[in-house]
Amino acid sequence: MTVKSVAQEAQEILLATDMIRLGARLQVLQAETSLSYDRLARLYREVKGCSPPKGMLPFSVDWFMTWLPNIHSSMFYNVYHYLDSYTPAKKSHALVEAYRLYLEQSDAGRQRGGAEDEPVLSFTRAWMLLRFFDSGMVQLSHCVRCKGGFVAHAHDPDHDFVCAICRPPPRAGKTRSHRAQKLLV
Ligand SMILES: [Zn+2]
Repeated sequence: MTVKSVAQEAQEILLATDMIRLGARLQVLQAETSLSYDRLARLYREVKGCSPPKGMLPFSVDWFMTWLPNIHSSMFYNVYHYLDSYTPAKKSHALVEAYRLYLEQSDAGRQRGGAEDEPVLSFTRAWMLLRFFDSGMVQLSHCVRCKGGFVAHAHDPDHDFVCAICRPPPRAGKTRSHRAQKLLV
């Protein structure tokens, strides 16, 4: 076992603090840092002013395939993938940066829409999505019409894949699909 330096620990605390502010659950912090459960729980209370929520993480691949979550998740994942591949921000740092950008974009969409609510994609779900990619449960399929990359079930045939924006379900309605389209531009 290697001894952790103070500087290393300080960096992990900063990363954990960023993730708590963005809404990360304790299980996410445990997976992404080597800080102890007790220290993380204490940090969580300091940052949030309340105890971390208990219970299971949302574990559903299918959630990412429903219409609006799929559009939000795909936008987030494309940003994450770009940051992780082409900038110094890697893995958990790319996750934090990509999620910040996602919030900025979805906030802009919300102001236009006027509704005050939680972002469609929570930080914890964004993290779960990356785990699903890592474990090969989902893939990025490219739409034959707009060429955009979208989250899809792994091994789904994608030679004639059409995305949720190019072919919204009938219930999506005109205004909502129009707003989603603006979100991706
Ligand atoms: Zn498309």
